[in-house]
Amino acid sequence: MKAIAVKPRHPNSVHLADLPKPRLDDIPNGRGVLVKVLKVGVDATDREINDGLYGNPPPGYDFLVLGHESFGIVEEVGSSVRHVKPGDYVTCTVRRPGNSIFDRIGRSDTTSEEVYYERGINLLHGFLTEYYVDDAEFVVRIPPALKHLGVLAEPMSVADKAIQQVYEAQKRLLVWEPKIAYVTGAGQIGLLVTLILRLRGVEVFTIARGTKPSLKAEIAEAYGATYVSTQSMSLTELAKHTGKPDLIIEATGNSAIAFEAMSVLGHNGAIVWTSITGGQRKVEIHADHINLNWVLGNKLLLGTVNANYRHFESGISDMAQGEIFFPGVTQKILTTPVNGLDNYREMMRQLVDSKEALKVFVNVAEG
Ligand code: BGC
Ligand code: ZN
Repeated sequence: MKAIAVKPRHPNSVHLADLPKPRLDDIPNGRGVLVKVLKVGVDATDREINDGLYGNPPPGYDFLVLGHESFGIVEEVGSSVRHVKPGDYVTCTVRRPGNSIFDRIGRSDTTSEEVYYERGINLLHGFLTEYYVDDAEFVVRIPPALKHLGVLAEPMSVADKAIQQVYEAQKRLLVWEPKIAYVTGAGQIGLLVTLILRLRGVEVFTIARGTKPSLKAEIAEAYGATYVSTQSMSLTELAKHTGKPDLIIEATGNSAIAFEAMSVLGHNGAIVWTSITGGQRKVEIHADHINLNWVLGNKLLLGTVNANYRHFESGISDMAQGEIFFPGVTQKILTTPVNGLDNYREMMRQLVDSKEALKVFVNVAEG
């Protein structure tokens, strides 16, 4: 069976690997689900892994099969599996449990262990292959009417977790009703977060480098947000116009902007960092200024990563609601299909070089 793999820590090592087809009884106690892979999305994390900055192969391997954003169709299920059946469309969670209390209660997304196990990213092979098998516990159903968006279920789960976490955390204030949110970054996470906040009735400013007109601006505005290019207005200038935001979701992939955003947040506000930055960037910051305002304003900085089963489910619900409020908009994110696992070089070229590609995904099989 073909698979797209890399040698983690070896820059630009993407290649085609060969693996045995997995079997249902690789998973004990009749809990296996065998899935035929239809589509797999790739993102900045895959790019960082191929750049040699991030990720590790499974023990005993010198390569890692990429792919953590999966969409597939169930082919076979074990005797104890009830919630999915052959022919169902599914996606799969990414992280697998370690040993902490969080892992044991189904919250491996908040594991307290430093080592984490993630399919296609760290210590476990991913989904950029023809078939995978996994425990039913991690396989999430996708309604047939959302088939066209199924490959976005994983990034949507990450976006949904980010929003849920900040609303949970802000319960510390007893009353928190964010009116204005800035979303920095208009990649897939920035746009999906824009959608989720618009569904909650928040006024959203989606902020990225590129000027209008652009597809990113078009999508953000179709969700009812205002798109702002940092080439025409800095964050500080924008905050003078809009008032300081109650919430900032940072999704640029640029740690300098993650810190810069801290200086415009309003009192009692929260900023959520979502970017995975495997590089070595250093910046100077106004430490006293940020520290002082952080304390005087009772502000919150929250990091969030990954998503568990429940976030996948709520992400899929929000995707469905998105189709009702903003029909046809979310699929515009899916700009760049690559046909077949054999085209792995083209996949990586689009991911690394293309200015137009908002979302690169591989069509692995028809279905
Ligand atoms: C994935 C998450 C993962 C994170 C850190 C992201 O790209 O979508 O599932 O936890 O990378 O490895
Ligand atoms: Zn990802």
